[in-house]
Amino acid sequence: MFLPKGIETDSDIFREIAENIDRLITVDLPFRAVSAKLYQNARSKSERPVTLNTAERLLGSLSPAQIVLIATGWPDRPHINPEIAETDGPPGAASLGMSLHRAQNAVPVFLIESQLVEPMSFVASAAGFKILSPEEALAAASSRAPLHAASVLAFPIDPLNAKKASKHLLDTLPVGAVVSIEKGGMNKKGIIHTSRGDDTTEHMAKVDFLIRKASERGVLTIGIGDGGNEIGMGVIAEELRTWLPYGIKCRCDCGAGIVPVTKTDLLVTAAVSNWGAYGVAAMIALLTGRQDVFHSPEMERRILESCIRAGFIDGGSGYVSGGADALDISIHMSLVNLLGELVNKGIDLRKTIT
Ligand SMILES: [Zn+2]
Repeated sequence: MFLPKGIETDSDIFREIAENIDRLITVDLPFRAVSAKLYQNARSKSERPVTLNTAERLLGSLSPAQIVLIATGWPDRPHINPEIAETDGPPGAASLGMSLHRAQNAVPVFLIESQLVEPMSFVASAAGFKILSPEEALAAASSRAPLHAASVLAFPIDPLNAKKASKHLLDTLPVGAVVSIEKGGMNKKGIIHTSRGDDTTEHMAKVDFLIRKASERGVLTIGIGDGGNEIGMGVIAEELRTWLPYGIKCRCDCGAGIVPVTKTDLLVTAAVSNWGAYGVAAMIALLTGRQDVFHSPEMERRILESCIRAGFIDGGSGYVSGGADALDISIHMSLVNLLGELVNKGIDLRKTIT
């Protein structure tokens, strides 16, 4: 096969494909008008593409049969009912969890608000996981008869209980990494905001405490977001305060702006948070040389359709839907198709070199 100029080693391929993955997942199809700047800020922290850094660190941190804690879920319009939550987040969590499971035999434990445990279980099941307790899922990972299991646990909204739960999870489970996908992050006053600048603290699980506790213990932490108000954006807090809408002045009484303060080891920004997770999953597939580690467009359809059964709403359109951020299911399938093609190209090129 013809080798493109400048591609001579595996690391050239990884870098070139990752640049393209970073580009794809940050194309501003939802027209949020913050994607490009968020990415510029995140990329300014590292010379290399963010999906490459993140995939490498996840693979390096997770040993087989170790747990990856993946927090997600955004209660949306909770003043009407706290069981209303959006489709951006859970599909990304499920597919990244499956990629890490296939690549590394990692056991995902999904963390979400208590009222969303059952809906999240539908989505994780659609990705192929049998939902069990963490202990049972760990037993499945070393079972001789194949059983692909994950766990879905409630994570507290109350700050004190969230601190206790963080300690308990890290004390009792073999946790190799913690990932937060589309999860509201606290500003310097401990207030969590919507991207529209409103206070949504009382409805959001306090995952900041888990990230901080994991960091204290040297456990890898990853933040994935698309609006600038999510956990992980603390990495670029200084930059965000200069330009993010409601960055300095929010619309609630706290008066401290929406910019989160908790830092993760790595930050992935994307046009849709799910896409950030897909980008990392695609890069994991390329690094491991296995196409099956990244999900297919057909699997994407199944996962997104499970959001309808789960009752999640598209946060953009307000409809119960498999779409996310006002983009139809077909658009997300197309993105997964394009990412999959980059993975296939990269795997083919690697064969040419070796
Ligand atoms: Zn505020």
